Amino acid sequence: MVEKLKSSTDLVEIHQIADYEYYQFEGRLLKYVKEVELNIQRIKETCDVSMVSPLPDSPELSNRFMNLYWRIINNQSITSSEIEVSDSECFICYAEMTSNQKTLQCEECKKVTHFECASKWLKIHRSCPHCRREMLDPNEFPNLGQ
Ligand SMILES: [Zn+2]
Ligand SMILES: [Zn+2]
Repeated sequence: MVEKLKSSTDLVEIHQIADYEYYQFEGRLLKYVKEVELNIQRIKETCDVSMVSPLPDSPELSNRFMNLYWRIINNQSITSSEIEVSDSECFICYAEMTSNQKTLQCEECKKVTHFECASKWLKIHRSCPHCRREMLDPNEFPNLGQ
C-alpha cells in the first residue's frame, strides 16, 4: 500500500508521509506479533489460558494516511495545506510542540521536530525527515552535532 501510494504521486511530501507511516506500522506490527508469540509460548508451557496477556491494539494505518491514500489513488487533488505542517507542529508525529518539550532543528532546512521523535527516526534513517540531509542522533553521537 505504501509502495502503491508512492508510485502514484511524485509529491515528495507524500513520499515522506508514506515512508514514515510504513516505519510506524512496521513497529506496531512487530510488537503485536511478538505479543502473540509470547502468548502461544505461555499456553504451550502452562496449558492455562488464563495466563494469556491482553494483546495490544492490532496495528492500523493512521486516518491521516488513509485519507491521503484514497484521495491520491482516486486522482483527487491534494491541497498543500493538507500535507504541509505548520512550524509549531512536529514534522514527524504532527503533534503540537510546546515550549517545555525538547526539540531538534535541522541545520539545513530548519524543520523542527520533537527530540524524542527525531531520535527514533534517526535510529533508522540517519537523515532529516524533511530534507533528507544526513543527520545523526545527537544522543548517540553527541560530539558530531556541534
Ligand atoms: Zn513529535
Ligand atoms: Zn532538514
